[in-house]
Amino acid sequence: MSLAVVEPATAEVMAEVPRAGADEVDAAVAAAKAAFPEWRAVAPADRAALMRRFADQIEGETEDIARLEARNAGKPISDARGEIGMVVECFRYYAAAPERLMGRTIPVAGGIDMTFCEPMGVVGLIVPWNFPLVITSWKTAPALAAGNTIVLKPAELTPLSALELERIALDAGLPEGVFNVVVGPGSVCGKRLVEHPDVAKIAFTGSTEVGRGIAAGAAGTIKRVTLELGGKSANVVFADADIEAAGRSAPAGVFGNAGQDCCSRSRILVERSAMDEFLEVMETAVGEMRVGDPLSEETQMGPLISEDQRETVGSYVSEGDVAFRGSAPEGGGFWFPPTVMAPMTNDDRAAREEIFGPVACVIPFEGEEEAIRLANDTIYGLSGSIWTRDGARALRVARAIDAGVLSINSHSSVRVSTPFGGFKQSGVGRELGPDALDAYTDVKNVYYATDAPDEQL
Ligand code: NDP
Repeated sequence: MSLAVVEPATAEVMAEVPRAGADEVDAAVAAAKAAFPEWRAVAPADRAALMRRFADQIEGETEDIARLEARNAGKPISDARGEIGMVVECFRYYAAAPERLMGRTIPVAGGIDMTFCEPMGVVGLIVPWNFPLVITSWKTAPALAAGNTIVLKPAELTPLSALELERIALDAGLPEGVFNVVVGPGSVCGKRLVEHPDVAKIAFTGSTEVGRGIAAGAAGTIKRVTLELGGKSANVVFADADIEAAGRSAPAGVFGNAGQDCCSRSRILVERSAMDEFLEVMETAVGEMRVGDPLSEETQMGPLISEDQRETVGSYVSEGDVAFRGSAPEGGGFWFPPTVMAPMTNDDRAAREEIFGPVACVIPFEGEEEAIRLANDTIYGLSGSIWTRDGARALRVARAIDAGVLSINSHSSVRVSTPFGGFKQSGVGRELGPDALDAYTDVKNVYYATDAPDEQL
């Protein structure tokens, strides 16, 4: 069976690839299992060198992979280049890990106690369509660096860059069976990976709904899980902030990747006294957004991923609530204009559910206490921003918001060297930074008796 891969900007088929089922997953897991002893035994410096070579080869193909990703995911080419840059950075960052996976020695009676960070074995990686290769790298790089072998399942909507990565892994000299890709439906291939007895761990990024099923499925074999799930993040703008900066940057915080971003600040909480000024600045910024062909250098926002996604996103917009919107091309492609609804309340459906499209709710608040209450009034806890010139307030509010990744006077969420992940129903575990290695290793404790034999217990 083959799978037709559609280009979101044209709604036309751009490639056909073989479509895997459960048998192909079993074969990939078997290959990964067979390759594990050899891969874990590669000397640390040699594994580090292979990781660096992998990074160099990706870097050498940046332009081709970026164009493929831009076309398949419908993202602006400048964003895609940045993402491939992050993929390279991620492999280089974790290339340092094989030589730094250090354990501890712990003072105990009668001997020496030491710990080791052991690889888990075969790790299953399930990735969504919004940032296909970059999210793949957040999982793949630490998993391989720690000595695991992997089976990667990309989203069926965007499998092309993962297949390129599998080829590059072999070109870079990774042994056969270390890096395996299966392209097939989540309900079949993803499910099989989650339930497979020879898979030690699942790292998943996607919807909270599917994440719940993965947590339940993994329980059958007590698999370790890392879950990066949905978000409904708040961008909290206090009246003492630089409103010009907050308003001009708000579209980037919510409409980046056409809003198909788990960190999208889709609830914009604005202190009531600053509301009019904020909306005025934001309206100008939204009006200036260039929405169009992903392969054009000027484009800032592309189409949505699919017709289904466009219908879902549209269901959240009621015309009476729309304060202003930007432009979008007509015709073929899954286009949707950046849309701002205001004033809204935090009880509105659009303010409660993850929309995953370019739709923002602007919600007024009075004072710090209400801002924190509204920011936390959600099942999610992934990301968010705080805009204020008062440094103490910025940190006070940051400590009070129940989210894993916050930024002050900025909308950045992700850096390769810092931990990323959610509170509450936004997930379990952390990716990136030093923390990710903990998620791909198990701690082994070894006690070595050193007392003379007649003193040993
Ligand atoms: P899903 O959560 O369904 O998909 C994410 C990945 O999981 C895909 O690779 C998918 O495979 C796979 N998958 C699906 N079902 C299962 C299963 N039963 N067992 C194992 N793996 C499975 O996201 P969607 O693509 O359907 O998007 C729906 C909504 O999810 C979006 O509108 C958005 O709200 C949210 N979402 C959130 C993301 C985030 O980063 N927070 C990322 C993506 C989506 P396949 O698609 O190939 O069938």
